[in-house]
Amino acid sequence: MLAPVTTAVFWLVQGSAITVFWVPFSWGLVVLWAASHFLRAIGLTLAFHRYFAHRAFEMTRGARFLWALAGTAAMQKGPIWWAGNHIDHHKHADREGDPHSPAMSGFYHAHIGWFLHDTRWKRVAATNPVVRDFGSVPELWFLDRYHWLPPLALALVMFGLGGWPWLAWGFCLPTVTLAHATFAINTVNHLWGTRRFATRDDSTNNAVTAFFAVGEGWHNNHHRYQRAACNGFYWWEFDPTYYAIRLMEWAGLAWNLQPVPARIYAEAAAGRPLVPAASRVLDPEQAPEA
Ligand SMILES: [Zn+2]
Ligand SMILES: [Zn+2]
Repeated sequence: MLAPVTTAVFWLVQGSAITVFWVPFSWGLVVLWAASHFLRAIGLTLAFHRYFAHRAFEMTRGARFLWALAGTAAMQKGPIWWAGNHIDHHKHADREGDPHSPAMSGFYHAHIGWFLHDTRWKRVAATNPVVRDFGSVPELWFLDRYHWLPPLALALVMFGLGGWPWLAWGFCLPTVTLAHATFAINTVNHLWGTRRFATRDDSTNNAVTAFFAVGEGWHNNHHRYQRAACNGFYWWEFDPTYYAIRLMEWAGLAWNLQPVPARIYAEAAAGRPLVPAASRVLDPEQAPEA
């Protein structure tokens, strides 16, 4: 699609969130927002992020397609483009070559500008491991090539099922909240929060972004050890994506979940000498309020 068209569609969808004020309110519509936001969020985090970019577990081809479809419906382009750029983020985090670093290029560029205006990140190199390993799988190639189809289909289905109220609360608002939940991992999680691990980048852990991005807000953990199926390294770090992966494992749809190695827990504990590595839940500073 031509760049001005993409930009116009992007801002049109952003602005469309306001339509929730033009339809009669009901709590059922809030539930619809939550379902649309959080299910597509898990598509992004479980498939695009933890599977395609980090190979944190394995899953059946059918499950992979369904979650990749849900992620593509989020209107954040396709799985191969998304995961391919994410690999570059980790490779160059907060240094030259990072597609979205608030430290390198400012908040707006890291939040939105990098994918909307910066032609350097429009295509992922053929040598990128995501392109190399998944680029020629037909159903994934299709989702990536026609990434605008699933969000369009979702919008039409919402409108068909419930008219303007469902379009507003089931597509417009959740597409915008989910966009910023994802973008915030690139900005908020490289600016504000706590740092358990002294990583070479500026990544932080942040409970608010973890909530809206279904576990991805434990981003300092993730930058320290990318391969793990969980981003919340302790039971009190809310990580619904990991719960979904565990549920799939229980149902026989996922396997080979990559754990956080003991040496990483030891490292976390070493930063806080009062807490022995084995007793993960005893850290008084990180435990939830009693
Ligand atoms: Zn990051
Ligand atoms: Zn990552």
